[in-house]
Amino acid sequence: MNRISVVIPAWNEQDSLLSLYQEISDVAERCDLDVEVIFIDDGSTDGTWPLLQELSARDSRVRGIRFRRNFGKAAALSAGVEAANAEIVITMDADLQDDPAEIPRLLDALESGGLDVVSGWKKDRKDPLDKRLPSKVFNAMVSWMSGVRLHDHNCGLKCYRREVFDEIDLYGERHRFIPILAASRGFSVGELVVHHRPRQHGHSKYNWRRLPKGFLDLMTISFLTGFRNRPQHMIGSVGLASFLVGALGLAWMAIYWVLRMGWFPDWTPLHQRPVVLYSLGALLLGAQLLCMGFLAELMIANSVRRSNEKPFSVKDKTGFGGHADRSDGGAGDADQVESV
Ligand code: UDP
Ligand code: MG
Repeated sequence: MNRISVVIPAWNEQDSLLSLYQEISDVAERCDLDVEVIFIDDGSTDGTWPLLQELSARDSRVRGIRFRRNFGKAAALSAGVEAANAEIVITMDADLQDDPAEIPRLLDALESGGLDVVSGWKKDRKDPLDKRLPSKVFNAMVSWMSGVRLHDHNCGLKCYRREVFDEIDLYGERHRFIPILAASRGFSVGELVVHHRPRQHGHSKYNWRRLPKGFLDLMTISFLTGFRNRPQHMIGSVGLASFLVGALGLAWMAIYWVLRMGWFPDWTPLHQRPVVLYSLGALLLGAQLLCMGFLAELMIANSVRRSNEKPFSVKDKTGFGGHADRSDGGAGDADQVESV
């Protein structure tokens, strides 16, 4: 029997929770799944929490975690995963837009494709255009900048091996970038088309305003995945280039000054040459960027590593005793899932 943890963040979703619980129970029974369901009440002000209390009293497979206030979806997912006991974690939204009937297909894709993350793709997305359009732009941007070519980075329905979360810190709005963070650490990521439904109760917690914020997050994530442990390589490269341009400009002005001074008494004085100004600016900017790079490196060198994100990722071990090597599964049914 497959043991799985289903993690569901819920912020004011009282009208959807009962049906969602019922649908998950039905799937578990139909497919013989040993499931635990962890709901995270992310600071709801409606009847979400009493309902979760009632559900967990009725069914021992259901557990609930209540935040003191709204901390955001990434924090909710993080708390849920921390409480999860199974080796396979499925995340889904609480608003019934994700279909629990897809759980067996996700599990199958994970096993048959030998993947660590299977990300849902809401190919036929049942949301208004003002959500679909920004989302398309966002997905194209993320795929292009990260190189992790998923159609739907922000799908709530995803399936993971638990170990993925042992190495990734979830905070802020980073839940949208879990596949990227996972891929950057060498986990294999794939995607699967999943059924999507319109929202029936409550209202969406996000709107187009998440697009510019998402872009800023994307820049941060790109920087962190590429240069987290060597920031000077990025900051310093720009700094060095700027410093060199400035130094060359000033060297040219110095030569000009030496050569022309004796022969042409009516030459343009140096302080009236814009090149001097630009070169000085570039030189100072370059020096500052280099210093910033060194400071960033110092912070890394001296910081106590409290983060989960070690500078490496171990796939397996052998000869350590007591550790069961992970089976990767076959490549059998891999046609329905596309690895990226
Ligand atoms: N959610 C949450 N905390 C937040 C925002 C959203 O727990 O701060 C939950 C929400 O209750 C839902 C899921 O995250 O279960 C996805 O949110 P929503 O359906 O509003 O997003 P959309 O589908 O509109 O993109
Ligand atoms: Mg939704």
